[in-house]
Amino acid sequence: SCCLYIVPTPIGNLGDITQRAVEVLGKVDLVAAEDTRHTGILLSHLQIQVPLLALHDHNEQQRAELLIGKIRQGKNVALVSDAGTPLISDPGYHLVTRCREAGVNVVPLPGPCAAVTALSAAGLPTDRFAFEGFLPAKEKARDDRLQSLIDEPRTLVFYESPRRLLDTVTAIARLYGPRPLVVARELTKTFESFYSLPATEMVAWLAADDNRCRGEIVLMVAAARPDPEALPSEALRTLTLLQRELP
Ligand code: SAM
Repeated sequence: SCCLYIVPTPIGNLGDITQRAVEVLGKVDLVAAEDTRHTGILLSHLQIQVPLLALHDHNEQQRAELLIGKIRQGKNVALVSDAGTPLISDPGYHLVTRCREAGVNVVPLPGPCAAVTALSAAGLPTDRFAFEGFLPAKEKARDDRLQSLIDEPRTLVFYESPRRLLDTVTAIARLYGPRPLVVARELTKTFESFYSLPATEMVAWLAADDNRCRGEIVLMVAAARPDPEALPSEALRTLTLLQRELP
């Protein structure tokens, strides 16, 4: 019977499209895309002609009902985003939830995802990791989020914009001290690079050359060192505050 396919697309290198993604995109009746112009370029490169429908954060609710209707009428639909895996810091959550509620089959294809690609080569522990997506844009909210993650025992994975990378790394250095960081930049593309330094040194490294902040970025933070003797940071903060009050 008909279904919704979740189809990952390349994060830079067009060669990373999977054989199955090409097959599915070539056979569906409709492709729901975050940006139809962007996906149109990919499809014409693959020599696939298929109707496109825009599905983004602002119209996902109505479009979900429309697409469920189409699938029930016997159409196969594929969901793609601009790059990588749909729903991973990309649209699609509402559509998939509604399909599940409506009993419509959802079939995921494996494929490119910047977070997993970055992690696989960063040299940080991968047995446990926490994907945090984008940090809040506002400074106070960002610092609160970082503070809430300070004792996280898993490797932290963030998506970051080139405009904010230096500020974010500066905030991490201030809050976490010399914690090991890895910046993965421009994955699968010509200027792919990995920078691995303690947060405090990463600030100076990035500030020294604008090119080091350019492009698309995954920022990874080593877990807080599991030191069983150490007091939890919350307790340390409380002690510091108490000390200030004492004569
Ligand atoms: N759904 C995508 C995925 O599966 O990775 C992520 C979409 S999110 C809107 C875009 C962010 O992913 C970028 O700002 C960047 O942080 C990260 N990203 C995407 N492509 C990348 C690449 N080639 N190299 C490094 N980071 C990338």
